[in-house]
Amino acid sequence: MPRRRPSDLYSNSVLGPVYNSASYYFEDEATVRAVLHRKERAQGRYGRYNNPTWEAVEDRLDSMLGSNDSLIFASGMAAHFTAFVALLRSGDHVAFPSESYRQVRNLFKRILPDLGIVVHELSIREPESFLSALANLPSQPRLVHLEMPSSPHMYLTDVAAVRAMLPAETIVTMDSSFSPPPNFSALEWGVDVALFSGTKYLSGHGDVLIGVAAGRQDLIDQIRWYRDCTGAVADGHAAFLLNRGLDTLHLRLSRLNESGTFIARGLEASPAVSRVLYTGLESHPHFPLGQKYLRGHGGVVTFELDRSEDETARFVDSLQLPYMASNFGAPQTLVEQSTLFTYFEYSDEELKQIGVTRGMVRLAIGYTDAAEAILADLQAGFARI
Ligand SMILES: *Cc1c(COP(=O)(O)O)cnc(C)c1O
Repeated sequence: MPRRRPSDLYSNSVLGPVYNSASYYFEDEATVRAVLHRKERAQGRYGRYNNPTWEAVEDRLDSMLGSNDSLIFASGMAAHFTAFVALLRSGDHVAFPSESYRQVRNLFKRILPDLGIVVHELSIREPESFLSALANLPSQPRLVHLEMPSSPHMYLTDVAAVRAMLPAETIVTMDSSFSPPPNFSALEWGVDVALFSGTKYLSGHGDVLIGVAAGRQDLIDQIRWYRDCTGAVADGHAAFLLNRGLDTLHLRLSRLNESGTFIARGLEASPAVSRVLYTGLESHPHFPLGQKYLRGHGGVVTFELDRSEDETARFVDSLQLPYMASNFGAPQTLVEQSTLFTYFEYSDEELKQIGVTRGMVRLAIGYTDAAEAILADLQAGFARI
């Protein structure tokens, strides 16, 4: 028999272990009473409620995001859905941006109304109009949801002004998937709960689906009860991968902020490109808000060719470097033509309303690719049009 080493010899592991246990045992009846009934101390019970690998990353998120408490979920959408269902009741009014992530729009437009929640859709394209629409809602909203920057236009919101005009009882949530620290800290500006697709920048390797809700203790407590009950939980391995990704969040974003600025400026200088949407460019309609709120502008650059959908598709097809795929914050550079991906079901009229053109392309820079090589590939593509 080989000699077994006691496992606590390895408690000096530099990285925390991955716990995948479905349940945790109790020593005896007295422990059950102390832990489960009287809640005298925290201890594992069952894998839908707690997992030490989740708790390691949730503690880390609190220190990075400045939250009182945070929760991880099976995906960004699971975090959004669980938060809204936990915080809203039938009859509540809620406002959300027209320009939000497609499935978040579906949540607000198709799921929450069936639960009796009164939903107001407001465009954030004109910051002043957004604020006055918010001030003129027919009833005081229970919750206002924001997203910034939005995709594909990278619109921003005057968060401090939104917070200042709402009563303290109105909860402000923000989808901050595109703007984690170091670029932005939603909670510092009065957002009560920051929501993230951790699949994107936070985990940053394109190898895990995970979501995060972080913020005010009383609200996170409410959301936790719903996570315990409805079970949209991440597993130990996903939590480990998020924690691994957080090690390099600042490094990755500072590189992407540089690459993004370089490529956005290069595109702006190219005669083939009719418009570039990047909040770090003075030409972006929300550039002043970007100066106020953002410490960096990230690795997603949207641009437009004054071309048909087919001509634009031939340009995208001809690119050698990026993968044609939806995601961002991954090591690889990804590209998608907006009307072939997110908006393929929209009519010309609907596209016009939301300001998406058939020549619109979203580039998500991969931090392992050199910005010069990406720009050179794009320029070679323009030369072929
Ligand atoms: C990807 C994304 C989501 C959804 O997150 P998943 O992890 O894919 O469920 C929500 N909001 C934004 C802005 C996103 O980019």
